Amino acid sequence: MKSMGGINRLPVEKYSCINCEKDYDDEDVRNTWKCPVCNESIHVYAEGYNDPENHITIIRKRASEVEKGDLVLLPGHLDGESYMVLGITPVKGKLGIGLKGYTQLKVSPDEPINCRVGSW
Ligand SMILES: [Zn+2]
Repeated sequence: MKSMGGINRLPVEKYSCINCEKDYDDEDVRNTWKCPVCNESIHVYAEGYNDPENHITIIRKRASEVEKGDLVLLPGHLDGESYMVLGITPVKGKLGIGLKGYTQLKVSPDEPINCRVGSW
């Protein structure tokens, strides 16, 4: 399966599994964004591009794992607005992810997606 190492990132990030209560290094999680022990999604605790006080919590999924109700962050705007997934439609080998207040995002099923899960 294709590595998820190319995902769009924020400049300051820390990686934890909240299930195992364990912190990880970049190289432990960068290809899958799953906990190497329990396989739960790694929580990414990040700071905004230019604002260290802007504390953003993200999980990273493949597009094929994105679900209705997820809050998608757009590449280059990871500290900006998140868009709720209204539905997902297969379109010619790709996935059309319908985002509330935005257009449809067309991506490959294995494309890594940043999903906002909260703040810290
Ligand atoms: Zn874990």
